[in-house]
Amino acid sequence: MKERACRHCHYITTEDRCPVCGSRDLSEEWFDLVIIINTESEIAKKLRESIPDAAKVPGKYAIRVR
Ligand SMILES: [Zn+2]
Repeated sequence: MKERACRHCHYITTEDRCPVCGSRDLSEEWFDLVIIINTESEIAKKLRESIPDAAKVPGKYAIRVR
């Protein structure tokens, strides 16, 4: 199943709507990903510096979404 990234919070999902923020604005064109296990880790904080709504729940997040 095709994985798409939410344009809002960058969460990567195979569903039709983002399970994190509820957005249906998903893109098949995304690049690079990070796996967040601990939402308070340094990498999670770093991700939120550029994408404020990212890494609020554990999961896979795209670095760039077109
Ligand atoms: Zn989302």
